[in-house]
Amino acid sequence: MTSLNRLIILIIGFVIGWLFGSLLNYVADELPLMRRLGKPACPACQAEYLILNYLFWPRRCPVCGAKRGLRSWIVEFGLGVAGALLVDFSPPGLGWVVALILLGYLALVTVIDIEHRLILHVTSLAGALIALGIGIHLHGIVPTLVGGAVGFGAMLLFYLFGILFLRLSVRLRGEQITEQEAIGFGDVNLSGVVGLLLGWPGITLGLLLTILIAGLISLAYLVLNILRRQYHPALAVPYGPFLTLSAFLLIYIRPLFFK
Ligand SMILES: [Zn+2]
Repeated sequence: MTSLNRLIILIIGFVIGWLFGSLLNYVADELPLMRRLGKPACPACQAEYLILNYLFWPRRCPVCGAKRGLRSWIVEFGLGVAGALLVDFSPPGLGWVVALILLGYLALVTVIDIEHRLILHVTSLAGALIALGIGIHLHGIVPTLVGGAVGFGAMLLFYLFGILFLRLSVRLRGEQITEQEAIGFGDVNLSGVVGLLLGWPGITLGLLLTILIAGLISLAYLVLNILRRQYHPALAVPYGPFLTLSAFLLIYIRPLFFK
């Protein structure tokens, strides 16, 4: 392949990735608030966006002037770069298209969870279908289903333990429940999706990595609070982004270092 052809392919990869990123931004803007996909509208005043403003410039509402956040640029640029990089570095067994779709899915779940502390059932269901297909292709049907069951079951135990802990601390200390539970049921569903993706025994590594990252982030947060002399009891760790980060590291990054 000549270097010009190669450059053209990388640019096409970038452009398709960027466009896919715009689509993901649109879903992340609309789905959590409207629970459906309508015309792109301003989250502040509900006015409809002009499609040129929405996709290109200026990225602000034509009526109230509210700007679209930095996230829309990060997602589009990130998916664009991924679209180019995946031309050479798609995970083993995954073609460019599937690798990009899966990456977009992980990004979407992460963005919605960070912005709304929410993992929607509809994205979990779509994720389960994508993950089931990829899992069976990579690991075969039984390891995929076992992986999904273990991912779901392990996080379900965490979830039930979290509720038990909350009830106990309320009873022992007579406190009102002010903090929402650390793990929501969306995390349980997402853990099942990641289990399907990684299969058995890969999900064991996925869960360990998730707990490790969550622990490190919690520790950093704690140290930061001690340095600022603040104390926030009952820190609720959102597991969703750590689950997606672990899946990303194991599927996309690990094969670069371990063949
Ligand atoms: Zn507006």
